[in-house]
Amino acid sequence: MNAVGVDVGGTKIAAGVVSPEGKLLNEVRYPTENLRESLLSTIAEAILEVQRGHEIGGVCLATPGYILASENKILSAANLEAIEGIPLKEELGGRTGLGVTVENDANAAAWGEFRFGAGQDVDNLVFVTLGTGVGGGVISHGVLLRGAHGMGGELGHITIQPGGPRCGCGNRGCLEALASGTAIGRRAGEVASEHPDSALGSLASAPLGEDVLGLARQGDGAALEVLREAGTWLGIGLAMFVNVFDPEVIAIGGGVSEAGDLMLEPARRELRLRSCSPARDLVEIRGATLRAKSGMLGAAALARGEDGEYVLGAS
Ligand SMILES: [Zn+2]
Repeated sequence: MNAVGVDVGGTKIAAGVVSPEGKLLNEVRYPTENLRESLLSTIAEAILEVQRGHEIGGVCLATPGYILASENKILSAANLEAIEGIPLKEELGGRTGLGVTVENDANAAAWGEFRFGAGQDVDNLVFVTLGTGVGGGVISHGVLLRGAHGMGGELGHITIQPGGPRCGCGNRGCLEALASGTAIGRRAGEVASEHPDSALGSLASAPLGEDVLGLARQGDGAALEVLREAGTWLGIGLAMFVNVFDPEVIAIGGGVSEAGDLMLEPARRELRLRSCSPARDLVEIRGATLRAKSGMLGAAALARGEDGEYVLGAS
């Protein structure tokens, strides 16, 4: 049977009907309302609209924030406070008449890549998404790592540089604070003021991650150095993931991953220096393939039916 995956983001809600083979059969999008009641009614409306005419076995929401899996509740979501604390299974189940579960968005995206994308040929996958923040998910022997409470796999918040830049989570020097698009923009601002003669330094306004990428592609040394540095931090993180999880594949997604080898080359070098053989030699680093659809497809594949089994079936 089909399932509905809903990607609840800070600016938009995308709901899709997904077949057991991972085919997206229908999709709707709504802007995100950041008020409890309108948010709930928008999500319910998106589910009801998208599933019309399809037979649906269950629904799963991919949402930002820390999830209490046993209660299908979001404890905290920095970019979507209205969703915090709502008993989503009951509220949305009641409004749609469908079984609803909840998963962290990065975990859902990891599951999407595992089932239908860059990791579909392996059993052990680490997924890292480099966007405004850094998210991640871990699949070990075909099982999504959730931890005791549903908060496992927060790969963006491992400490890479003690005393480094402040992270949104309150810690300092997290991978997210060093290798996200936001971090690259911040670092580029510092480098721009140190090197006013560079193309980076001549930007009229504070640099964004995409400015850095564009200038680096044109060969600006300062911009290249910013990406090299972010790639180095990323590689230190990847080395930890290799030592802890021994994955067959690390799939890298998110907008920042478009920097490609400008970041991945220094990342691979750090990975080789800092992780153990033979895992470091056997792991393959790949680009994620589902792009913006990974959360929705992964959420659909994590939807459970009344019997508690995955609607699309675990591979
Ligand atoms: Zn953090």
